[in-house]
Amino acid sequence: MTHEAPLAPGATIGILGGGQLGRMLAMAAAKLGLRAHVFCPDPESPAFDVVRVTTVAAYDDEAALARFLASVDVVTYEFENVPETTAAFVAAQRPLYPDVRALATTQDRLIEKTFLRDLGIATADFAQVDTASDLAAAITAFGYPSVLKTRRLGYDGRGQVMIREGMDPGTALASIGGQPAILERFVPFEREVSVVAARDHAGAFAAYEVIENEHENHILKRSIVPAATGLAEAAFDMTGRILDRLGYVGVMAVEMFVVREDGQERLIVNEIAPRVHNSGHWTLEGAVTSQFEQHIRAVAGWPLGATARLGDVEMTNLIGHDADAWAQLAADPAAHLHLYGKTETRPGRKMGHVTRLFSAQPSGG
Ligand code: AMP
Repeated sequence: MTHEAPLAPGATIGILGGGQLGRMLAMAAAKLGLRAHVFCPDPESPAFDVVRVTTVAAYDDEAALARFLASVDVVTYEFENVPETTAAFVAAQRPLYPDVRALATTQDRLIEKTFLRDLGIATADFAQVDTASDLAAAITAFGYPSVLKTRRLGYDGRGQVMIREGMDPGTALASIGGQPAILERFVPFEREVSVVAARDHAGAFAAYEVIENEHENHILKRSIVPAATGLAEAAFDMTGRILDRLGYVGVMAVEMFVVREDGQERLIVNEIAPRVHNSGHWTLEGAVTSQFEQHIRAVAGWPLGATARLGDVEMTNLIGHDADAWAQLAADPAAHLHLYGKTETRPGRKMGHVTRLFSAQPSGG
């Protein structure tokens, strides 16, 4: 199902997934007078703290899904691993944005990279790996190091292993559970950047400035805006083509590597995420419209908001026990502190983030 007319205030947006992204989406919906109903299997979901209506059920519980769908006007999600059958069940009854095609394209690294290549967008060289002999052949083609990734369900470095000289292909494949995978040629990147952008029902496109991202232990640690790259226009153009080809509605993040070859910068797309993204959290205070509001606007059929940046920005994730410093951070007048309400602190778990703005002159976007 699709719909074109804007949802009026008071309408309800169904959100699949109740983590911090669902929480911040629900808060953005509330800002616009829209309601959110969050569906998540985890009774301790951070998003449940900020909405009145919740469903705690498994994603394949069709009776619970049917009740959820009866109470909402459109459905969106905070994570790309919504099971295919759930997405199809939802889309048959309510508009789902981004749609089933966006999910199917981005849930599987092989399909995603093939989609990008067919669009003429550069990716790391990749090969399908189902067996140890596929892997051995791909290693011969790409050399060392190279990166083995599960096709599905990998994030924050999970389901990923660096293949180094002397490693046995069978052992490497076993270390990612023997799942269908791809091997990628190693990209000696200079920096990692992302574009967070939105497309509405009518095809209007709005991007935030290019974001520079630093990872620690495969987890995003810091985002800095603007990124130091001369390729912003090329990055926006690629992102616009991806969104158009998918007929996409909502916010998407496109993660890219910047490589330098013969003194020239070049962009290689690593991954696309059909949702709001950690590298866009700075937009809450650093842009006229936050990525969360932008996504809600798009899925509700509202006009996209302005993406202009309000200063130079740095966003730092609070990972695991970083969040124990909350009292100090709360006392820092320059820090915009966000805590996600997670009761259990675990190493590697995203507990919150802090945004700092360094100059207060509107620019770009
Ligand atoms: P991904 O799970 O694809 O987002 O990858 C997680 C991180 O691993 C990236 O942000 C990079 O830092 C690194 N990485 C992934 N693929 C490659 C590659 N082909 N070459 C070099 N580094 C990579």
